[in-house]
Amino acid sequence: LRVLAIESSCDDTGCAILDGNGTILAEGLHTQQSHAALGGVVPEIAARAHLAILPGLVAQTLADAGLGLRDVSIFAATTGPGLIGGVVVGSTYAKGMALALGKPFMAINHIEGHVLAPRLAAHLAGDTPPAFPYLALLMSGGHSQCVLVMGVGRYKVLGGTIDDAAGEAFDKAAKMLGLGWPGGPALEVLARQGDPRAHALPRPLLGRAGCDFSFSGLKTAVARLLEPWNGPDGLQALPQAAAADIAASFQQAVGDCLVDRLNHAFAQCAANNIPLTTLVVAGGVAANQNLRARLAGCAERHHVRFEAPPLRHCTDNAAMIGWAALERLRARGWGQRATAALTVVDELTTPARPRWPLEERGPEGP
Ligand code: ATP
Ligand code: FE
Repeated sequence: LRVLAIESSCDDTGCAILDGNGTILAEGLHTQQSHAALGGVVPEIAARAHLAILPGLVAQTLADAGLGLRDVSIFAATTGPGLIGGVVVGSTYAKGMALALGKPFMAINHIEGHVLAPRLAAHLAGDTPPAFPYLALLMSGGHSQCVLVMGVGRYKVLGGTIDDAAGEAFDKAAKMLGLGWPGGPALEVLARQGDPRAHALPRPLLGRAGCDFSFSGLKTAVARLLEPWNGPDGLQALPQAAAADIAASFQQAVGDCLVDRLNHAFAQCAANNIPLTTLVVAGGVAANQNLRARLAGCAERHHVRFEAPPLRHCTDNAAMIGWAALERLRARGWGQRATAALTVVDELTTPARPRWPLEERGPEGP
């Protein structure tokens, strides 16, 4: 069995080929650079770029795996949620290949890919994948969600952001500090030289019930701190040390909020007798070493394992989409048996969706 997966929900075009065990035979990723100069992802440009990149990327990934298209048993693609143009391009491309070759197509939820990715990462590292039920904290440029993962297809969203996503907050704060876009990584580097206690920034929703997130008040507070330096020359007069203090204080506030919200999620699971095994994190913000360390500490205090995939499987990638397809097949009680046994061709008619709440993804099972 070999699955060829495509990811195209934002500005990354990905293609990966996995065997039935989840071993990656080849994977390719193209991050569109044209958006940086425009200060954010322009959906129409992204969709056209996916279309231009995909044929070459798929051909290269097959070549890297030493395979031809006919060697693929199943095609999978993100069919949502995401920027609709890109999702349409990638999923239609995969459906087209499936249809032409008479192979099954599997429609994969992008968020499902992210929350199952730590199981792929553990598998690749030769470890046992984190067992269900576990808590997944997804923090990317477009999403911030705390998800209880009870099994494949069995998800409960415990909280989400009520305004900006975590990555979006990092990017907006970074932009204000003159760090370019997407500035999350640069903000982390700058924060290392600053004092996290320099400024008492707000901690939105801290201590409140539930585990929703809010970051826009934090962003406004950063803007206010920068006002004295906001002249006609922009931020040119802002000393490096002052910028570093703001970055460090911002990062500290985000970390405090994340840990507080997770504490609530752990408490909620304990109150419902849900025996959590692991805290997993995913999404680009999970690349942040400071936050990673704080979240690992949180897991330790709650006596669960901590799992954070390496960066390339934390951010958008196609391997997690292929892995999610395999997980769904396994949950159907289907191991390495012939593809003829599959009844997934009907997913060819699954439409591309800009929004696709994770909980609408039905459970899998024999
Ligand atoms: P989507 O939200 O659709 O999943 P995305 O492309 O926005 O996709 P990712 O690629 O998972 O999301 O993550 C990108 C985000 O992660 C950006 O907002 C980026 O600034 C942020 N990010 C990356 N590295 C760091 C870091 N070291 N510290 C803070 N934020 C970071
Ligand atoms: Fe993503």
